[in-house]
Amino acid sequence: CGIVGYIGQQDSKEILLKGLEKLEYRGYDSAGIAVMNEEGVHVFKEKGRIATLRETVDPSVFASVGIGHTRWATHGAPSKVNAHPHQGNTGRFTLVHNGVIENYVQLKDEYLQNVELKSDTDTEVVVQVLEQLVKQGMEVEAAFRKTLGQLKGSYAIALLDKQNNEMIYVAKNKSPLLVGLGDGFNVVASDAMAMLQVTDQYVELMDREIVIVTKEVVTIKNLAGDLIERSPYTAEIDA
Ligand code: GLU
Repeated sequence: CGIVGYIGQQDSKEILLKGLEKLEYRGYDSAGIAVMNEEGVHVFKEKGRIATLRETVDPSVFASVGIGHTRWATHGAPSKVNAHPHQGNTGRFTLVHNGVIENYVQLKDEYLQNVELKSDTDTEVVVQVLEQLVKQGMEVEAAFRKTLGQLKGSYAIALLDKQNNEMIYVAKNKSPLLVGLGDGFNVVASDAMAMLQVTDQYVELMDREIVIVTKEVVTIKNLAGDLIERSPYTAEIDA
């Protein structure tokens, strides 16, 4: 239902949790965050309130890259296992998703015959397909674009690669997603409201675009890999 992301120098946990709290009014049944540092990716997720999630987040983990999600279940009951973020079986990729993947059963049949899925969600299929393509030798960005090209339905997605803590990959189709620009950091949000606490400069994503977000640079491409230029706008703070 809601997505946030942060990449910069500060610790991401509190920025992500605050961002998710700003999206609470939209309704949700579970919430989670994944934060990444040199040690790896740490996932915290829970069914129920963000206050509950907050209690389970290990305060000793410092990580300046992370993504977060509030879930409104469409495929799979509200539960800790079905809550986002989701990971592939190797744990290399971690993904959050808003929307509905209409062809997830076909994708499962085509790519994941030998893969044991951990959740009942349409979302897990996306990260597992991506992992298979990378295992087959594809470079991550190309595999991400190819995976997205196979999806039917709606998505706003944010993705972490454990082997590269310098970037967050995002994408959208028929679900809103914005990239917020900061000084020495950048953020991702399904709604500017979530991140107005840290920036009012946003770049809108169009359907079937991806963005590679580092703490300094935001690179927009279409699914064919062509670069796209777009200027930011100033989001109004409306109290
Ligand atoms: N379809 C996904 C799920 O059920 C995402 C739902 C959402 O947008 O929160 O897990």
